Amino acid sequence: MKESKLIIASSNKGKINEFQKILPDFECIPQSVFNISDVEETGKDFEENAILKAKNAFTKTNISSVGDDSGLIVPAINNEPGLYSARYAGLNATDSDNRNKLISKLKDKKLESTYAYFFCCIVAVGIKGQNEIIVCGGKIEGEVRTIERGEKGFGYDPMFYPKGYSESFAELNSLEKNKISHRGQALKKLMDKLNKT
Ligand code: IMP
Repeated sequence: MKESKLIIASSNKGKINEFQKILPDFECIPQSVFNISDVEETGKDFEENAILKAKNAFTKTNISSVGDDSGLIVPAINNEPGLYSARYAGLNATDSDNRNKLISKLKDKKLESTYAYFFCCIVAVGIKGQNEIIVCGGKIEGEVRTIERGEKGFGYDPMFYPKGYSESFAELNSLEKNKISHRGQALKKLMDKLNKT
């Protein structure tokens, strides 16, 4: 029997599985179970968007809810794609459209590889009282390269090479990736904080 329920304010199945693996004491329920759809990401940074997502699920269910927002930041090209990582090449862009746009931006700057990092902010609301907000961040540094490798993962994984690894994120299995990833780190911090409440 799980200790308590947590609504995950996301429609991404991979993310929900990742949350459930790292938070085994909680029953992680996707917001779709309550017919809640994704909110518009109108925040000015990752934290604001994560709060918007978590609060939207909490308001509609009155059950503790968790939202997250993440993205890839490439300082050499003005911190793009950043907050717009999911829709870099347009509203209905696929992961490969987004990667192709990033590759062409790098090539415009004559860069075959450059420093980059992923950042993730995870927010939990309604854990103890209505007003409590728990905020956790995670970051993984590495390089983006114009050469894509690997078939696993999603998003920018085939072109992101974490520091200290010769493989891209898309060549690591999910266990290896979760151990070091921005989301894995933020989730571990959340787990520690939830276990202390
Ligand atoms: P969101 O956090 O669901 O809004 O996703 C933001 C976007 O950032 C995703 O659609 C991906 O394009 C990118 N992204 C975030 N985390 C990762 C990751 O672990 N690998 C690859 N791309 C990611």
